[in-house]
Parts: sequence; C-alpha cells; structure tokens
Amino acid sequence: MDLLLSGRACARRQTRQVRVGHVSIGSGAPVVVQSMTNTDTADDFATTMQVAQLARAGSELVRITVNNDEAAKAVPKIREKLLAMNLDVPLVGDFHYNGHKLLADNPACAEALDKLRINPGNVGQGAKRDTQFASIVEMACKYDKPVRIGVNWGSLDQSVLARIMDENAKRAVPRDAGAVMREALVTSALESAAKAEEYGLAGNKIILSAKVSSVQDLIAVYRDMAAKCDYPLHLGLTEAGMGSKGIVASTAALAVLLQEGIGDTIRVSLTPEPNGSRTQEVIVAQEILQTMGLRAFTPMVTACPGCGRTTSTLFQELASDVQSFVRDNMPIWRDQYDGVENMSLAVMGCIVNGPGESKHANIGISLPGTGESPAAPVFEDGVKTLTLRGDNIANEFKAIIENYVARTYPRKGAAA
Ligand code: SF4
Repeated sequence: MDLLLSGRACARRQTRQVRVGHVSIGSGAPVVVQSMTNTDTADDFATTMQVAQLARAGSELVRITVNNDEAAKAVPKIREKLLAMNLDVPLVGDFHYNGHKLLADNPACAEALDKLRINPGNVGQGAKRDTQFASIVEMACKYDKPVRIGVNWGSLDQSVLARIMDENAKRAVPRDAGAVMREALVTSALESAAKAEEYGLAGNKIILSAKVSSVQDLIAVYRDMAAKCDYPLHLGLTEAGMGSKGIVASTAALAVLLQEGIGDTIRVSLTPEPNGSRTQEVIVAQEILQTMGLRAFTPMVTACPGCGRTTSTLFQELASDVQSFVRDNMPIWRDQYDGVENMSLAVMGCIVNGPGESKHANIGISLPGTGESPAAPVFEDGVKTLTLRGDNIANEFKAIIENYVARTYPRKGAAA
C-alpha cells in the first residue's frame, strides 16, 4: 500500500548511525531536534544561559559559533557551567575559515565539543582548502568527534560550482542554472564526505547537510542526496525568515522530506522578532515532528478557529491559557510521569463540533457559543464527566487536567 495514502508516515530512510554525545542520529533513531545560539560565544555566561534555555525548551543538540580565539577559549567554560547546572546537552562547534587553526590552538575546545560543523565552501581557498580541511578532519579523528559537513548555497565551494558549470556547458542540452546549482551542492557534500573518509574519519562519524532557502530546491537537493548516500542527513531550510513566513516555509519543506523518510535531525532557522525568544525555533521543530506523528514532546491542544457562533473571547483565552499551562508544566510532568507527552486536549468554541472533537481528545471542553446555555461540558477519554459553569472555568479545567495526569500516567521509577 502507498504509505502516503495510508495516513502513516513513511518508513525512515536507512542510514548509518552517528553518536553525538549521548544522542544517536540516523538508522532508526528518533529524528533529533537541534538549535543554534545567537550570543557572542566569547561571552561564556550569556552563551551558557542561552544554551540552557534552548536545552530546557527541548533542543537535543545546541550549536554555537566558534569564530575566534576568545570563543574557542570560552567553549570549555560553557561546558563546565552547563554540567554544573546538570545539563549535558551535546554542543556542536560551528567553524568557518579558521577552524583548523582554532582547533589546533585550543585542544580544550575540541575536547569540550561533541560535534564539529564545517562548511566545505568556507574551509579555505585553492591549495589551502585541502590542507585545512584535512587538519580539521585530523582533529575530529584525534578527539573522536563526529563532523557535520554542512554545505550552504550562500557559501558554496566555487571550485565545485565552476567544474559542474563547465561540465554542463559541454552537454548537448545544458540544464538550467537552478539544476546546476543543486547538483553542485550535492556534489560538494558527497565529495567532501569521501575526502573526510580518505583522511581517516569513519563513515559513522559523518552527517551531511546541503541547505538552501527555497522550499522546492531544498526538497530536490535532499531527495538527490538521500538517494546517493547513507549518511544521516541534517535537514533545515536556511535563512527561513521571520514570523509566519519562516515557520510556513520550514514546515512545507521539512514535512515533505520527513514524510518520505528523509531527515535524521532538524533545525528550523527562524529569525527571532526583536527581543523575541530563541526557543521559538525549538518549539516549531518539535511541533513539526509531533503534528506529523513522528515524535511526541508535549501534549497538543486542539482548538477550533472560532466563528460567528462564538463571539466572546473566552474560548480564545482558554485555548491560549491551556496551551501555556501545559507547556509550563511539562518540564515537571516529563520528569514525573511516563507517556504524558502523548496526552491530547481540546478546547472548542460551540456545540457544532465541540462535543465531537472533545470526545476524540483525552480531555476536552466544549464552551458555550452565542445563545447557548452558559455551560461547558467536559469530556475525559470520550465520556462526559462534568459540566463547568461560572467565572472560574479556566482554573477548574486546569485542575481537571492535573488530576487526569496524576491518575492516568504511571509515575517514573514506581514499581510495576
Ligand atoms: S466549533 Fe463552533 S465556534 Fe468553533 S469553529 Fe466550529 S462552529 Fe465555530
């Protein structure tokens, strides 16, 4: 049966498995959520705080920029501070231009990182390119660290692009510029991986990415790369943008590929609003995976959009209140209860779809629409258990959720 038509996600693509710290990537492991800081890494306090924030939001790997000597010296301090906070989230060092030198000069930095990210387009030019690439791979081997070879169309290796363009010009029917660029991206990633293996890096220490900012190009590039290798793939739309545009574009691209079983770790590259939280990219990544049924992180709240049948703001306020309540409580519930992340909730605006949708959820509430009697039936596992009335519905409903969690999900560590 066609898996796309069966309503289930496709089987994951078979890959090698790479260990990054205590996290497994590829070969059937759950798709890993990762993120990146935007602090100055040399400011070890600010960077530690942001890594902690991202990790607590659910980022399973966090990448930090390592762009100069000060940043490289800060990395071991960041690691120590995180451990003192009881956070052992794997750290990925992002290197461009001078990674060979920074790693050679700062062995403690190489030691403290769990993975190195290098961009073949930014390793060096001409003859230096190969020697500098080889030095980074040597460091990875010496410190037993995996490497992500991360190609980006904004910094594509120009020698590869020039070669592919020459080959294209000799074709009887040359392909368009987009196809040439996509081939150059994939070629750069695959040839760099082959070179890294030649220099001694094991095949199960390599993760590949080839990021572009157009949805259709990303899908085409990753389909091609997935067909040509068995390295785990880091998926992400680069420079996705701000607000709903960034979220929609990332979701459109990632959903298509994940549905085809392509993608072993994802990052959603959102530009935060001024003073906005960096953790939004983690929440969006989790929601992509959870709404596709690939992973469960936090209970999902189903809410209707509202319409002319519910003109008060009570229903919108309750939906938002319940979503925040669940998200705020999840760090505690996750530590205490097994399986609570699978709980489903519904907050509905009127009798039309309210009771029906609420019955499909573990706990649902159907608020009264305009003209309905001021009563809100509550359903638990499909059965109406009580009706809420009055001004305290939000608090009473949250208490019902807490009771449901405590009596439904087994306590962690309790004897069976
Ligand atoms: S459940 Fe009621 S309020 Fe909500 S969208 Fe449907 S008809 Fe409108």
